[in-house]
Amino acid sequence: MSERTTTFVDKVVVFSQIAGLIVQLLAKKIVEGTYTTITRLTYKPPVSKTYINDAETHNIVILGASFAGYELTRLLTQCLPSGYRIVLVERNDSLHDCWLFPRLSALKGSELEPKAFIPYGGYIRSAREGMVEWVRSEAQSVEYTALDSDDPKDVDIAGYVHFNDGLPRLPFAFLVAAIGVPNPAPSRTNLTDTSSSISLLKLYQDAIEAARRIILVGGGAVGVQLATDIKSVYPEKSVTLVHSREHLLGRFGIKLHYAAMEALEELGVDVVLSERLDLPTEATLDVPKLLSSKLTLKDGRVLEYDLLIPTVGATPPSSADALLPSLSSDLHGPYLPVRPTLQIVGVPAKAPISDRVFAIGDVCDPPFPVAKMGRAALAHGVTVRDNILALIKAKGGKHKTLSEYRPEPVESAIKLNLGIGRAALWCPGPGGRSVVMKSTKEPKDLRVDKFRWFLGVRNSGNIDAMATATRAKSEGGVAPSLK
Ligand SMILES: Cc1cc2nc3c(=O)[nH]c(=O)nc-3n(C[C@H](O)[C@H](O)[C@H](O)COP(=O)(O)OP(=O)(O)OC[C@H]3O[C@@H](n4cnc5c(N)ncnc54)[C@H](O)[C@@H]3O)c2cc1C
Repeated sequence: MSERTTTFVDKVVVFSQIAGLIVQLLAKKIVEGTYTTITRLTYKPPVSKTYINDAETHNIVILGASFAGYELTRLLTQCLPSGYRIVLVERNDSLHDCWLFPRLSALKGSELEPKAFIPYGGYIRSAREGMVEWVRSEAQSVEYTALDSDDPKDVDIAGYVHFNDGLPRLPFAFLVAAIGVPNPAPSRTNLTDTSSSISLLKLYQDAIEAARRIILVGGGAVGVQLATDIKSVYPEKSVTLVHSREHLLGRFGIKLHYAAMEALEELGVDVVLSERLDLPTEATLDVPKLLSSKLTLKDGRVLEYDLLIPTVGATPPSSADALLPSLSSDLHGPYLPVRPTLQIVGVPAKAPISDRVFAIGDVCDPPFPVAKMGRAALAHGVTVRDNILALIKAKGGKHKTLSEYRPEPVESAIKLNLGIGRAALWCPGPGGRSVVMKSTKEPKDLRVDKFRWFLGVRNSGNIDAMATATRAKSEGGVAPSLK
């Protein structure tokens, strides 16, 4: 196996695995299609359009409507039994396509910013009326009910989600945390409305345009993409990328390090490896700050800069952090420990209530390595859908064996943008093999329209479920269901 280059055998091994997965995916789509048709014909919508004062309907509450939570919602709408509704709680007014954020922090005047914020609703437009209720709010804490029964059928109300914006507590029969993990700007905006998020990206554009000497701290995907984008938009600026380890992009394979180094060198980015910096205070804020300063490297070299952007490190704690201890008493940093079934470990409640609490996406931490990637977040939904259905169908406290999530190597794949027009696709396969494929014909907009289309955004008849939910709440009403 070659460390740097992709061999013919690497390609055969990796692509045969992908071909196998595509066949499985197509077979699943056919089965899903059949389920959707049956569900559309048989599902009886709840009498009440909202969870408020509705004791009849059991709520499957999903916290967070990004890659993990939105996909699980779609999957559940295909098979939801009558008597259940999905309540999707999300603090943002749109889905953030953060994959575009490094580009939109560097590139000014593209008018692409609004496209990175995707209206909610279109992805599940085929759901039956009353299946999904949207709640625009930030969950603050979770409370579990005490129950002395072993029969999962008894668990109509396993607990409540609490808010602090006046919404009544939300009862749940099942709870799924899909809340992601905090990340500093500009990889995330950490703002809940689209217009403030766009303004923050524009602040980065202005700061980058004004700075002559820029230091980026952190050689992960965001640091590398930002460095190469800045240098390809502004070749005259001095751009330095400082990374604490010997190789860039440690979460991915070594081949991607070499592909990134090649692009960084060609563009003229100065790369400093194996250098752990103490971040100055101004760099820990979630807004860019221009100032003339300098820092000294361990070899004595002094780097002067006008702008320092960390792409690693902690973000200021948000109110959502209070949610984590109420979900599990066994936290690992910002992560929720889960079993292979994706049920949360350490739920402060007894079974069968504790069996009904799951975590998916970046926030979940199973007892084996998983990629913190969009593809993995999508895959988790299948396991949790199957397990919720198995628990719903349980008889006399007995249910079928729960499904276990098994990560596929391809879930770690990434298309790394390496400056305007250029990218490297890294894809791992079985036996530690991987391929890197370079491209120099990438569109500036990173094909955002395709992603919006995938998420149900159409030229006409767009749905904006969260706008409707937000409007209803501000008018003192309740968040309505999807249609
Ligand atoms: C710049 C960048 C580029 C990336 N590129 C790729 C790539 O090329 N390929 C790839 O596969 N992956 C990529 N990723 C990783 C991918 O985006 C994440 O793995 C994915 O977003 C995880 O999805 P998630 O649903 O678990 O969490 P998130 O996307 O973090 O979403 C969590 C959601 O929960 C909401 N939320 C949190 N707390 C609460 C609360 N208390 N109440 C209500 N709502 C709440 C948030 O508002 C958010 O919408 C990239 C990430 C970044 C930052």
